[in-house]
Amino acid sequence: MNIILFGPPGAGKGTQADNISKKLNLHKVSTGELLREEIDSNTNLGVKIKSLMDSGSLVSDDIINNLIINIFSEKKFSNRIIFDGYPRNLSQAKSLDLLVKKHNQKISCVLSLDVDKEIVIKRILGRQVCSNCGLIFNKYFKPSTKDNHECDEKYLNKRSDDYEKVIANRFETYLNITFPILEFYENQNLLHKINGDNQISVIYKEIEAIIASLET
Ligand code: AMP
Repeated sequence: MNIILFGPPGAGKGTQADNISKKLNLHKVSTGELLREEIDSNTNLGVKIKSLMDSGSLVSDDIINNLIINIFSEKKFSNRIIFDGYPRNLSQAKSLDLLVKKHNQKISCVLSLDVDKEIVIKRILGRQVCSNCGLIFNKYFKPSTKDNHECDEKYLNKRSDDYEKVIANRFETYLNITFPILEFYENQNLLHKINGDNQISVIYKEIEAIIASLET
């Protein structure tokens, strides 16, 4: 099964994608993470990507489509993907449709996390990512503790685009460019809306129920 996790920045897509991928043994494909890896490798492309990302704008479709084509070329990902932060505009959604068909696969569902803007801002401002293991924490809602995290505190970092003035821009980009593609998936009867204001565990239970209903 291939799943799309949809929602504004700070909706908790990454956290829920981690939960689902563990439980169902799916591969999380986060275009944001793939782009950050490119930035970390200090390539020319990485420098270009960073300035776009740090302004809260989207990276070009060509760059994103190439990342996704590479993913589909790997057998281990076949029908086992959970997309986090992709697609982000109609052109990406249509490219994904073509790729999925070309590889004889399908999108099983689109899970859309609806979250209030105030909550999004608090979640993003508190977000911490472990540079050692990749786990995501939040100093307000899900702090890193000895029970949930093995790495040293020194590895916890804030993302360079998680600052207040960039967040406003990212939210606008979501509303104007990304949100409208929900209709594309609604028309295909793939869309499931979830109240993303709830606690992580409550949201996850709802997601589990939706996925279970697909399997029967
Ligand atoms: P994320 O980690 O999903 O919050 O993404 C962080 C940033 O990476 C976004 O604000 C965009 O600048 C860029 N990005 C991630 N995914 C995409 C995508 N599918 N299309 C265009 N830009 C993207």
